[in-house]
Amino acid sequence: MASLLIVDDDVIVRTILNLAMKQEGHQVLQAETGESGIELAQQHPQDIILLDAKMPNMDGFTCCEKLKAILQDRCPPIVMITGLSDQESVDRAFAAGAIDFVTKPIHMAVLRHRVRQVLRERELVNQLATTNQQLASANEELHQLAWIDGLTQLANRRYFEEMLLKEWMRLARQQQPLGIIFGDVDFFKQYNDMYGHLAGDFCLKNIAQLLQSSTMRPADLVARYGGEEFVILLPETDIAGSEFVAQRIHSKLSNAAIPHADSKVSTIVTMSLGVTCTVPNLTTDPKQLLEIADRAVYTAKSKGRNQTVVDPHQPNIA
Ligand code: GH3
Ligand code: MG
Ligand code: MG
Repeated sequence: MASLLIVDDDVIVRTILNLAMKQEGHQVLQAETGESGIELAQQHPQDIILLDAKMPNMDGFTCCEKLKAILQDRCPPIVMITGLSDQESVDRAFAAGAIDFVTKPIHMAVLRHRVRQVLRERELVNQLATTNQQLASANEELHQLAWIDGLTQLANRRYFEEMLLKEWMRLARQQQPLGIIFGDVDFFKQYNDMYGHLAGDFCLKNIAQLLQSSTMRPADLVARYGGEEFVILLPETDIAGSEFVAQRIHSKLSNAAIPHADSKVSTIVTMSLGVTCTVPNLTTDPKQLLEIADRAVYTAKSKGRNQTVVDPHQPNIA
């Protein structure tokens, strides 16, 4: 069953069409003028409109154009009812946006056939739209899976590497600094051994949130690099600014005070951080910056953990 609107100034034609379409099982609304037809079509969504071409005041062609303009994508298919063998009317009907036409006097079998055909096409178009929507959301989901770390919901390593390259090139052009913080949770193997893997996962989620909340600018990017290693990209941030963010992370960890009874450096979960910064240039590989930050983390580990090591030197980079 479809919703169908008949717009015709002739009460006899309306009555005959009404009967025929009701026999087809459709729900029918009627309008006597183009204006009232537009009003009805706006108030009650239709599946198809049968529109008389010749009406006083607003004719069917103008009404068709207006319906298209007002309802846009929501405009149902419009079948125009034109004068017999009137080539000009037929051309005008299609030009106004009608999908099909029938001629007067109306041949009921032809009309039924056309209405069925139009409704079938509409059904197919709707199915296609639904399928496209499902496809789009499946793609979105895939996209998320490909770029987002499932446990922490942070960007994953792949996304991070992509962004590192993008920011590297952008900042090389703008000659602006790029800060980076590499972080590794201290004695996390012991944490897992002590509290179990589930608790370990939960701890990583908390750390991810804490890192995220330690960065303020929209361009800052926090990513899970792997396991219990995290990395933060700080575009347009100099070494002092990057170190400041690292200190904020230590103080947030201290405030969060996640118990870690088996840590050798504290009673709570801590991290070792490596910080570096450079003004990128287009001839060097951004991975070098990452390696410097990574090395700084190992220095922090060897110096006793739970601290930040800043490497302000960027050999071969600046
Ligand atoms: P260090 O202070 O030297 O960094 O010691 P560590 O124990 O943190 O370092 P190590 O690299 O030896 O161990 C990392 C551990 O992190 C190994 C594994 O048990 C744990 N880990 C890595 N990824 C995950 C994860 O996704 N979930 C959980 N629960 N644990 C993880
Ligand atoms: Mg590690
Ligand atoms: Mg570790």
